[in-house]
Amino acid sequence: MKYTAVVLAGGAGKRMNSDVPKQYLELNGKPILAHSLIAFQNSDVDDIIVVCKAGDEDYIRREYVEKYNINKVSAICVGGKERYNSVYNGLKACVDSDYVLIHDGARPYVSKDIIKRNMEEVVKYHAVVTAVVATDTIKIADEDGFVVTTPIRKNCYAMQTPQTFEYKLIFEAYDKYINALESGEKIQVTDDAQVMELYMNKRVKLIEGEYTNIKITNPSDMR
Ligand code: C5P
Repeated sequence: MKYTAVVLAGGAGKRMNSDVPKQYLELNGKPILAHSLIAFQNSDVDDIIVVCKAGDEDYIRREYVEKYNINKVSAICVGGKERYNSVYNGLKACVDSDYVLIHDGARPYVSKDIIKRNMEEVVKYHAVVTAVVATDTIKIADEDGFVVTTPIRKNCYAMQTPQTFEYKLIFEAYDKYINALESGEKIQVTDDAQVMELYMNKRVKLIEGEYTNIKITNPSDMR
């Protein structure tokens, strides 16, 4: 069985207030993206596809793939305007993959255990996403910022990555979603599980993440 990691590094990182996209910022001696790539290089995945911004392909090859000897990288492809466009491009670059682990390059502390659990559980459940139970109470609010309802906290989870799928399932789901967007679909998905929920008749299983597997989003996350 062939496992491919699609590592996303095509974002601009606007919320970091930095000229450099957040995945390229240095954290503990290495760029954030290097930590993420090394985690997959040291795992049992067969290959890695890096999705980056247009024009950054040579930079990624030189400063990441060659510098850190990430020899599992089989392709560097260009992402799109939104995260879901980048995922779709990454999926199109997969060759003969049976399973695909989709990971935010901006989550540098993904652990060996998380990757292993994803690889094992996807065989049984076909669609699995890394998650942690919410520690804060979650409120659903309306557009004006007033509370509408309070879901039961023990049923609320924060989604992390990797999110891991049978390749055929997730490709079909994204294909349907991208076509639907062109035909007027208004929902802007924010994770891969949501594409499965919307377009495939397949339940998605939550698997245990770690609170340290954070996505670097705001300047305070760097500390
Ligand atoms: O913006 P956000 O924090 O949701 O980004 C999550 C991951 O997706 C980041 O690693 C980012 O580089 C990537 N991304 C992408 N293409 C985009 C937007 C985000 O590859 N258009």
